[in-house]
Amino acid sequence: MRIVFIGPPGAGKGTQCKRLVEFLKIPHLSTGEMLRQVKNQDSALARWVSSYLDAGKLAPDHLVMRIVAQRLSAGDCDIGCLFDGFPRTLVQAQLLDEHFAKTNRKLDFVLELQAAEEELIKRMSKRAELEKRADDTQETIRARLHVYETQTAPLLQYYRERGLLEIVDGMRDPGSVFADIVSIVDKRRSG
Ligand code: ADP
Repeated sequence: MRIVFIGPPGAGKGTQCKRLVEFLKIPHLSTGEMLRQVKNQDSALARWVSSYLDAGKLAPDHLVMRIVAQRLSAGDCDIGCLFDGFPRTLVQAQLLDEHFAKTNRKLDFVLELQAAEEELIKRMSKRAELEKRADDTQETIRARLHVYETQTAPLLQYYRERGLLEIVDGMRDPGSVFADIVSIVDKRRSG
């Protein structure tokens, strides 16, 4: 299966993605992870990517698509994959559709993990203390939530219109959230 996982930062997307790829035995394609890897190299590209990530801004659409396309060309993605943090803009969704059209593939469905904003800020601030992630400062937390609202939320409409959107309530314990995800997977598999 090919699944897109969308959710605001702090909604618990990482935890649920991890469980889902173990359950389905498909590769986990996290663009946040991929971009952090690029950032850690010593190159002009790395410095360019850092300037976006450290400010909590989105990296350029075509660059992200190029990195994803390269990853998709590895044989292990033939059985399917989970897109985590991608697409993040309408342009990225269109680029992904074009890529699938060219490679004769399609998305099975899109999961949207929902959570209230106060809860997201609370969870991310806690994570910032524990993990000391460079992009988890108060300022960038708000910047990333703003980016989500303005750039990522419009994607939901795009997928809803195509009959691909499934909504999951992220304000419960991780086990209950995952149970909902599994029932969506089963429904989509048999449908
Ligand atoms: P989170 O979901 O907590 O924001 P991610 O690891 O998904 O964390 O992303 C971290 C950062 O990487 C983002 O704030 C953004 O700068 C960059 N990034 C990740 N995915 C994309 C993408 N699809 N397009 C552009 N930038 C991205």
